[in-house]
Amino acid sequence: MKTSSNHGFGTRAIHAGQQPDPTTGAICTPIYQTSTFVQSSPGVIKGEYDYSRAANPTRDALQDNLASLEGGKYGLCFSSGVAATGVVLHLLSSGDKVLLCDDVYGGTNRLFHRVFAQLGIETVLVDMTDPDRVTEAMDERTKLVWVETPTNPTLKVIDIERVSEAAHMGGAIVAVDNTFASPYLQNPLALGADIVCHSTTKYIGGHSDAIGGALIVNDDEIHQRLKFVQLSEGAVPGIMECFLFLRSTKTLHVRMDRHCENAMKVAEYLSGHAAIEKVVYPGLKSHPQHDIARKQMRGFGGMVTIYLKGGLEASRKMLERVAIFGLAESLGGVESLIEHPAIMTHASVPAEQRAKLGISDGLVRLSVGIEDADDLIADLKQSLA
Ligand SMILES: *Cc1c(COP(=O)(O)O)cnc(C)c1O
Repeated sequence: MKTSSNHGFGTRAIHAGQQPDPTTGAICTPIYQTSTFVQSSPGVIKGEYDYSRAANPTRDALQDNLASLEGGKYGLCFSSGVAATGVVLHLLSSGDKVLLCDDVYGGTNRLFHRVFAQLGIETVLVDMTDPDRVTEAMDERTKLVWVETPTNPTLKVIDIERVSEAAHMGGAIVAVDNTFASPYLQNPLALGADIVCHSTTKYIGGHSDAIGGALIVNDDEIHQRLKFVQLSEGAVPGIMECFLFLRSTKTLHVRMDRHCENAMKVAEYLSGHAAIEKVVYPGLKSHPQHDIARKQMRGFGGMVTIYLKGGLEASRKMLERVAIFGLAESLGGVESLIEHPAIMTHASVPAEQRAKLGISDGLVRLSVGIEDADDLIADLKQSLA
């Protein structure tokens, strides 16, 4: 079935980019597990394909599917989320400056500060919850503004529309890492961003069984440049991964609805718990940017951050006691996970920066899965008893 932007999210999730297989009628896009394609005469190729690093039908189906879900013209898939991020950085040249939101994913921070800094690209951290700070930090060398919202792990919400305006006024392009929200809850291109980045490893994949990344854009020229780097650097996903992600996007809307519902119940339960100092969830009225979240998101996601009374000792006790929540890094899968950012995911962030961001020893991050909410709440209750 051919889909258009008029179709609803669920219809596009299941059908966009996917036609019944022309040779057999198979309803699922086959896993075209092949590196190369036979030519009938030198340079004469059958369809659009000659070599799978350049293009592969299973990957094309996924790229078109993700483009449709983000409301973009073009999708490009990569072997991981950080590979996708690195490709965006290749739009820059030595001497250029990047503004990065201060509470950015650790791997993104490392890529900017420790890999691309060597190539003469300067990175400045900005608290983008105040878009005026973006305007203040812009200068003629600033070519890219990198936003992540909600952020990890403090779940700050950044106004994509206002930050995009500020960046464009100063002549920079805007990339938004939309991993935490997923395309079901937030579409940055419609809010003025130029590039959307995903770690498909998380909600898009949703089953904690594959690593991948994606970029979605509208602009023809930006697409051509990113596609050229995809071909030239070759950080493309495996064909089997493309199939797994295509299988996953078919249920993205259903999973996200349950993630949001469960996360709200968990956040409300923990808000009333005596062992907890503070609960951070964009869906709570107490969240400092709740109004912006309401404006730019269709739901508040599956991530909940809590501050425990009693610091490290209390956190350790809780994390050793959970039974349904898995103590592990990563997020966005059907199974609930819980972790301690200061020791685990954010250990590479300098202690001084962690303190500034509020990533303390009492901070615990939950990725609320789609199990039964009552069981999740019972598990948290016993872990805090
Ligand atoms: C996991 C993650 C990434 C990196 O993705 P990988 O697939 O692990 O390379 C980037 N941004 C965010 C917000 C993430 O959660």
